[in-house]
Amino acid sequence: MDYDRIFSNAIADIKDEGRYRVFMDIERTNGEFPKAEWHTENGVKDITVWCSNDYLGMGQHPDVIQAMKDAIDKVGTGSGGTRNISGTHHYHVMLENELADLHGKEAGLLFTSGYISNEASISTLARLMPGCIIYSDELNHASMINGVLTGKCEKRIFKHNSVEHLEELIKADDPDAPKIILFESVYSMDGDFAPIEEFCDLADKYNCLTFMDEVHAVGMYGPRGGGVAEERGLMDRVDVIEGTLGKAFGLMGGYITASKDIVDCVRSFASGFIFTTSLSPAITAGALASVRHLKNSTVERERHQERAATLKKLMRDAELPVMPSVSHIVPLLVGDPVICKQASDMLLEDFGIYVQPINFPTVPRGTERLRFAPNPLHDDEMMDHLVKSLKVVWEKLDINKYCRAA
Ligand SMILES: *Cc1c(COP(=O)(O)O)cnc(C)c1O
Repeated sequence: MDYDRIFSNAIADIKDEGRYRVFMDIERTNGEFPKAEWHTENGVKDITVWCSNDYLGMGQHPDVIQAMKDAIDKVGTGSGGTRNISGTHHYHVMLENELADLHGKEAGLLFTSGYISNEASISTLARLMPGCIIYSDELNHASMINGVLTGKCEKRIFKHNSVEHLEELIKADDPDAPKIILFESVYSMDGDFAPIEEFCDLADKYNCLTFMDEVHAVGMYGPRGGGVAEERGLMDRVDVIEGTLGKAFGLMGGYITASKDIVDCVRSFASGFIFTTSLSPAITAGALASVRHLKNSTVERERHQERAATLKKLMRDAELPVMPSVSHIVPLLVGDPVICKQASDMLLEDFGIYVQPINFPTVPRGTERLRFAPNPLHDDEMMDHLVKSLKVVWEKLDINKYCRAA
């Protein structure tokens, strides 16, 4: 057995396909976001970041920074253990209460990431309900897919955002089987919204639970940043609302909010919650400050929406192929993995613009794209520079040829 060859071939294959991933070595400068420094073999270069999921720039908000510093001064660095064994800090309790309130739920539960919150919660709910069937949107995030796999239950995949297909699948199954409908409120690659109300109607009609990932909406939608469900007045109709502290809230960690009993079950049975050191108190304190700030302040959300709309318009006016996103996500279709990577490299090296190519398996083959996440701190000048640079790159690489074919 030639082990070395197995691994080098695997890498050679993804390189041939043009989807070998290279991580950018960047250093953000506090107070300068979205400007950052890029560490290269030839030294350090100034760049503007266009693909950060720190959607509102909260990662450098003074209140958040101060809260983290204060927490470190007060209690030190790590949490010291799992939640069960000396790792439950007062900050965790306060943040869980704050998140439960944000989503209008009885209880909240923190995890070390959004990925784990999905995986651990979905698998636990499935295991607690023998014969459970999970109905999962075909574009659901990998963390949800893995939750379904770990839950070892029956699964049905419904066409993206299709209420009709979902109903067809539910109707074909045993009416007495426990059922969970699994979906996201905002799909972050296309930037479209789920028909939340219609899914909840189906859940009522066929007696299903609903589990919704609001990762790309918490902090950004709704009067207090409670997500799309808050904006649409539907929070009480979704059984489990899952979110992250790593995107708009600017830190890291994940959570669910739900009824007391559901949260208590996940707390008591989920391996991914029980057997891991809890979030650092400093991160938790920072998240608490961030959630509280965004509950009370709407300027970030308003500016964020305005910036996204402006960038889409500028791109459309420049005849760049913006995909039809209705949210804050601005995807630009390229339609070829190699060209997509080349475009991204050229933007970075020639224009100091950092936007990551999005290739398979994150998106379907043939829909490779550049995905822009404008935030409140991208000013008009940056947008102007971006669109002009994109025009040059589009012509140099003759990209319209690829996206027409796609
Ligand atoms: C990023 C993401 C997650 C995972 O959240 P993390 O906090 O980054 O682990 C879950 N669901 C969706 C849809 C995501 O995009």
